[in-house]
Amino acid sequence: MSAEETRKVHSTPNLDQLEDGPWPSFVTGLKRLRDSKGKKYAGMMNDLLGQLEHSYTNRLGYWKGGTVSVFGYGGGIIPRFSEVADKFPESKEFHTLRVQPPAGLHYTTDILRQMCDIWEEHGSGLIAFHGQSGDIMFQGTSTENTQRAFDALNDIGFDLGGAGPALRTSMSCVGHARCEVSMYDEIKAHRSVINEFLDEMHRPAFPYKFKFKFSGCPNDCVNAIHRADFAVIGTWKDDMKVDQDEVKAYVGEVGRKYMIDSVISMCPTRALSLNDDDTLEVDNKSCVRCMHCLNVMKKALSPGDERGASILIGGKRSLKVGDLMGTVVIPFLPLDTDEDYENLVELARTVMEFFAENALEHERIGETIDRIGMPAFLEAIGVNPDPNMVKHPRTSSYVRTDDFTEEAEKYFERKARTEAAE
Ligand code: SF4
Repeated sequence: MSAEETRKVHSTPNLDQLEDGPWPSFVTGLKRLRDSKGKKYAGMMNDLLGQLEHSYTNRLGYWKGGTVSVFGYGGGIIPRFSEVADKFPESKEFHTLRVQPPAGLHYTTDILRQMCDIWEEHGSGLIAFHGQSGDIMFQGTSTENTQRAFDALNDIGFDLGGAGPALRTSMSCVGHARCEVSMYDEIKAHRSVINEFLDEMHRPAFPYKFKFKFSGCPNDCVNAIHRADFAVIGTWKDDMKVDQDEVKAYVGEVGRKYMIDSVISMCPTRALSLNDDDTLEVDNKSCVRCMHCLNVMKKALSPGDERGASILIGGKRSLKVGDLMGTVVIPFLPLDTDEDYENLVELARTVMEFFAENALEHERIGETIDRIGMPAFLEAIGVNPDPNMVKHPRTSSYVRTDDFTEEAEKYFERKARTEAAE
């Protein structure tokens, strides 16, 4: 009798409950892999389910870390060894390969099939597109097969991502390939930065993790503002474009009440007003590019022509000082020519060098800025303070005028005079 025929399927009464309800369940997926006929990972998935059931019963986790890597790399593999290997021997090692996704998450079906074949050959068959880190997570392989799986993935053009105190795998939104409000070439920005600093990803030498994320517009589809240490967010500088015929058509369709309740009054800076003849007025100086009106009235409104990106530093999830949103450090960086993209890479280098030299161990850059203060950080990276960096200019009592833009213009005039005098 084959091992498959003699294998005892672990009963999983606790896990079975997770299959109730309307949503797809990961338990169903694991069982499907367990029940695959003639697949060598079926036994591994059976023992994985057994161990998980054991954990649910005892309310304890039984995985421990360790050290597993591939030749020439210091990170990218998340090792998992079972503490109950005597009970569940086939899943005693269940390591994960973090693999960098293509910029913009563009795949061909052929590449996806090749990935599945590789993981059926060398791993558990279980792949997650994509983990919170942005990586493709190839979950579940033995120490022995880790190098083989990596070599095969490398042969089809993929590389490991980051783990530990290192530059981490980056993400960019689907971008200008499919999105009409994309404001720069996200894919070019993503690859220019990550390719330049790949060593920092594969050989962890930072005080802690450092993440880049690239979103083509302020809708921020890759959650860069609150997840990335260095967020590149597409924006525009000139006036937004308004097609008044489309505005009228929209108002005719939804009615003036809906338009006022759901578009005009939802503008956070009251930059919009509706005229009696159903045309729209936009106070572009007050618009903070939140994207709300553009999202609602796609045909009528679109970003201006002078496009680029804002750079925000210091976003992260909880740790020492709690969750942080990124702070605007460069309000507008043009991203048009090759030279502009080189400037982005140089800025990234400056910020990473500052982080490597000044952050404490296990401290994200947002926490370093919190510790030393924004003025010291700006001085260290050679960026002058700018009124656009004021977090809530229209509500801050330290900005002593209703017209923030006017005050900002005065600041820039003063600054230009000082620079000319120097
Ligand atoms: Fe107002 Fe946002 Fe529209 Fe700008 S993008 S006008 S801030 S709703």
